[in-house]
Amino acid sequence: MLSTMQDAPLSIAHLLRHGSTVHGDAEVVTWTDSGPRRVSYAQVGRRCAALAHALRGLGVTGDERVATFMWNNSEHLEAYLTVPSMGAVLHTLNIRLFPEQLVHVANHAEDHVIIVDPSLIPLLAPQLPQLTTVKHVIVTGPSTAGLEAPAGVQVHAYEALITDQPEEFDWPEVDEHSAAAMCYTSGTTGDPKGVVYSHRSIYLHSMQVCMSDGPNLRQGDRALAVVPQFHAMSWGLPYAAFMIGASLLMPDRFLQPAPLAEFIAAERPTFAAAVPTIWQGLHLYLEQHPQDISSMREVLIGGAAVPPALMHAFEDEHNVSVLHAWGMTETSPLGSVARPPLDATGEEMWKYRYSQGRFPASVQARLVDDEGKVVPNDGASIGELQVRGPWITASYYGVDAADKFDDGWLRTGDVGTITSDGYLALSDRTKDIIKSGGEWISSVDLENAVMGHPAVAEAAVVGVPDEKWDERPLVAVVFREGSDATVADVQAFLADKVAKWQLPENWAVVQEVPKTSVGKFDKKRIRSDYHDGALS
Ligand code: ADP
Repeated sequence: MLSTMQDAPLSIAHLLRHGSTVHGDAEVVTWTDSGPRRVSYAQVGRRCAALAHALRGLGVTGDERVATFMWNNSEHLEAYLTVPSMGAVLHTLNIRLFPEQLVHVANHAEDHVIIVDPSLIPLLAPQLPQLTTVKHVIVTGPSTAGLEAPAGVQVHAYEALITDQPEEFDWPEVDEHSAAAMCYTSGTTGDPKGVVYSHRSIYLHSMQVCMSDGPNLRQGDRALAVVPQFHAMSWGLPYAAFMIGASLLMPDRFLQPAPLAEFIAAERPTFAAAVPTIWQGLHLYLEQHPQDISSMREVLIGGAAVPPALMHAFEDEHNVSVLHAWGMTETSPLGSVARPPLDATGEEMWKYRYSQGRFPASVQARLVDDEGKVVPNDGASIGELQVRGPWITASYYGVDAADKFDDGWLRTGDVGTITSDGYLALSDRTKDIIKSGGEWISSVDLENAVMGHPAVAEAAVVGVPDEKWDERPLVAVVFREGSDATVADVQAFLADKVAKWQLPENWAVVQEVPKTSVGKFDKKRIRSDYHDGALS
């Protein structure tokens, strides 16, 4: 028997219409070198309509890909909303890809238009002649200065293009399963691969961002989106903010601790999201330049394991609660969120919060061992995490990657345990686990232990070849400025925290741990630096 319910498609255009009318007073605030730049959601709605007319004029009439090469700002938000709403496909290009990767992904996605931030022209322009499908480049702001168009490409200034366009657009009804946006993985563990989100997946994911067992973004929140719009859709914040009526605070290119702190002081966010290294940097900065950041009810941290020491620092020193979450580009990206059971207190509560958390009802998870058997959720049995659900990808765009899927489940490449009440604790990525004398060492556990030492600013652990044990851990450690602590001090500190056979004997004191294009520890690079002798 069929239901009697209406078959109303879920679409980004609904979010755009809703946010720009019902929540028309909410605002997007972009940080600039001369302070904040504000646009209300009502204005965003009108500018989106104008942009849609302009893009139609540039031949975006079907599912053409409109790429962005931009920081987090209001124009990027306009592209997020406009492009899918008009039936085309938004492609967020990662501005930190290597040039050859950028050429590969833009050609692979067959981008027709690229919208670029003026400050990023020097990164894009040298590659433009190799982007074989690009016909138009739109430079945000009033001018195209600094960009010479290669043959066959037209260059436009964003503001000139949308001026005098109608401020209303007849948004088409789109099939909720059609492509809305695409994002390539950042290639931490291989070549970038494209994930294509649908209107339906983005809509449902946005609802989860607002759920109380998820990030719990609320009406009236001021959400500081440090997590880039060019990576994993800024964790869904732009769409969720339009859905729930939360204002967006966009840091643009000002991602260093000092301007971030200034932005926080000026705009008083109530919610924020970023990878651990950003918060680590802000925390160290605030030690030298104390400031009240307690307007933030909660900061969502994910993309890499959050060191417990960082959670405590934010809580104890700043009265800001850290919410740990796990996700991937392939999962839209929200997977699990570490909200403890309401009755948990003290140490027990912290254990829940250190974990990667629980999955929402819409995402199923299981652990599978090396022999392909599903292992029980008993908090002890270890396996590779596999997930499925309406906002989890079922394939990669235009490539065969059958080994990344198992009977309809996405293989995440992450290894850990799940408790009977659903809490995921990841020990590592399969590629990062250290296999020493037939036993496993979790690089993440070791990192967390080392980062618990008060003199350590940051630390990353990788496995390096060892004749006797196959692999042993190597710690790349950064000491805090002004500290006179030594490796021996940290080794002594670890003695009662880590099993004796796991204690690392290989250490490299470095100025900075190398980071990936999205700010995570770059373990591939650390391993190759070690081989090339930069670390020893
Ligand atoms: P990339 O794979 O290029 O780093 P993603 O952002 O999609 O790009 O990375 C997803 C991966 O990041 C996950 O598979 C996992 O290894 C890691 N990750 C994300 N969140 C966490 C977390 N809370 N704890 C540990 N690892 C995490």
